[in-house]
Amino acid sequence: MAERPFIVGNWKMHGTRAMLSEARAIDRAAQRYMKVEVAVAPPFTLIHAVHREVEQIAVGAQDCHTAEAGAHTGDISASMVADAGAKFVILGHSERRENHAEDNAEVRAKSEAALEAGLNLIICCGESAETRDKGKAEQYVTAQLRASLPQIDNAGERLTVAYEPIWAIGTGNTATPEDVAAMHATIRGLLTETYGEEASASIRILYGGSVKPENAKELMALPDVDGALVGGASLSADSFMGIALAAAEVAE
Ligand code: PEP
Repeated sequence: MAERPFIVGNWKMHGTRAMLSEARAIDRAAQRYMKVEVAVAPPFTLIHAVHREVEQIAVGAQDCHTAEAGAHTGDISASMVADAGAKFVILGHSERRENHAEDNAEVRAKSEAALEAGLNLIICCGESAETRDKGKAEQYVTAQLRASLPQIDNAGERLTVAYEPIWAIGTGNTATPEDVAAMHATIRGLLTETYGEEASASIRILYGGSVKPENAKELMALPDVDGALVGGASLSADSFMGIALAAAEVAE
């Protein structure tokens, strides 16, 4: 576990202004767990409002465009989300890869645009059930990540990686502790090869896929698991902060 674990809520396409009270509750609770870095990525429409409501937690975006500005109806640039108060952006989530046909080259291009705009990155990777059943999960994730990661000098400060097996997202299924540990070790190896040992040691690798307060402690205690990317359970301050508490206990 990293010195300061990172617990990030991905609200996906959930939330209107009614969710601001939940953001405030998360922010208040986060002040009790200063050893843990807590953040939320609300939909674009709430980034600025959440940013204005919170003091302790960081706010991020769930995507950005590769271009700075232009004729891209419906798209949002990295500098726009930064201007709204985002400090980081989640890129390459499997739902974007699937629903918007994003490939690794696009994830890398988006990450370069985000870095240019001053945003930190959470780059997602993860295999399908079919790939895992074929025994090719680690090979697949290595290739996916290798092609998605940007060239960057200070990766230790700007980059987080999230391993999210697709079959575990929103299903209630989590990967076995052995599989999570093996995949995180593989990812650590790739980060070391790409950015060098010192930077790699500072890059947090999050696990994502049906993380809940009930299973968080076991997952957070695994080697090279430095936090969690949380979907469903991040929509309520109680369950989300139950996960932050688990991370705080493991970090102690
Ligand atoms: C996610 O989509 O990033 C995620 C981990 O979702 P859930 O926690 O709901 O599985």
